[in-house]
Amino acid sequence: MVNALDEHERTIGFAEVALSQIKLLRHSANPRNYEIWYVYATGYNAPLNEIINETLSRNGRLSQSELDELYESYLTHLKTSDRIDKVGARVVGEIDDLMGTINDALGRTASYDASLAGADQKLALATNREQLVEIIEVLAQSTRQMRETNQILEERLSLSKDEISELQHSLEAIRAESLTDPLTGLGNRKYFDRMIEMTVQAGLATNQPLSLLMFDIDHFKSFNDSYGHLTGDQVLRLVGMTLKHAIKGQDIAARYGGEEFVVVLPNTPLRQALTVADQIRRAVTAKELKKKSTGEILGRVTISVGVSMLRADDDTDALIERADACLYAAKRNGRNCVICETDPEYAEEARGQVA
Ligand code: GH3
Ligand code: MG
Ligand code: MG
Repeated sequence: MVNALDEHERTIGFAEVALSQIKLLRHSANPRNYEIWYVYATGYNAPLNEIINETLSRNGRLSQSELDELYESYLTHLKTSDRIDKVGARVVGEIDDLMGTINDALGRTASYDASLAGADQKLALATNREQLVEIIEVLAQSTRQMRETNQILEERLSLSKDEISELQHSLEAIRAESLTDPLTGLGNRKYFDRMIEMTVQAGLATNQPLSLLMFDIDHFKSFNDSYGHLTGDQVLRLVGMTLKHAIKGQDIAARYGGEEFVVVLPNTPLRQALTVADQIRRAVTAKELKKKSTGEILGRVTISVGVSMLRADDDTDALIERADACLYAAKRNGRNCVICETDPEYAEEARGQVA
């Protein structure tokens, strides 16, 4: 239900804030500066905003070198593709180094082999004590060298083990980030798409009940229009937090898009799912919203919820479509309520869709 026109207006709002900051502070309007001020306008990167606000209140200005520093510290690191590039380059470098060490060790092993073979032949021909001593000395010397080689290899492998395990953590962090919505910290749409598919397949295979809850904030457009998008974003964070607190164990919560959220409840029959849905609805409505910057009381927001249940002959798309239709029925029913597939309002909605 995210409307392209709304998205247009929302992003134009951010762009206007960015441009007015650039003009006000007489910065050059290059893409890097613009990106800093655009991200600032969205409020997504709280540490960036904090340092900008602090510097501005201290000095009243931001120099180009300070902007460059901010970009390097707060924005380049956020680019997943850049980070994958860096980790990728380190993996390649590490493999290169390791291959060099292995080749070196192989070369030394080959020469140790040759020296053993030589000693073997000489032993067969040795006729006196001096010759035997000489052969043993050569053998002892190459064995010492081989031990040194092994020691170097061992140290290098142990370093590699640490480096590879660090790279593994970096990759895991990048992967987690690519599945996270930066505003709310919940799973993003990509995460939801993956998880719902897996959960539905598991539910069908084991014949376990599964419920899907879809949430949409009521009249959110007019909330944004009245109080601004940054305050709207705070509300999205609040709804995200409420979902996070309401779920447990294997339940899944994600931001589906714009001001829509989803919760998947595996092994959960309808009655229980409705209880969770209504708890979340009431928890959101219970919070009196206050504008952070001014303390102004903004009232409350409400949410509508649609709940669908997995059927034996179901698939993921159909399950999502039914939850969406229930959500739509909840909107038609006056908003701030939960509608599920067994409610007459849904039946009416479904009939309307067929007609
Ligand atoms: P309804 O009760 O029918 O859901 O009305 P609505 O105004 O909430 O619905 P509509 O889909 O028309 O508007 C959704 C609004 O959500 C439009 C857009 O301004 C806002 N929105 C979407 N994503 C974001 C976001 O990331 N941040 C903020 N602040 N607003 C967003
Ligand atoms: Mg919507
Ligand atoms: Mg809405």
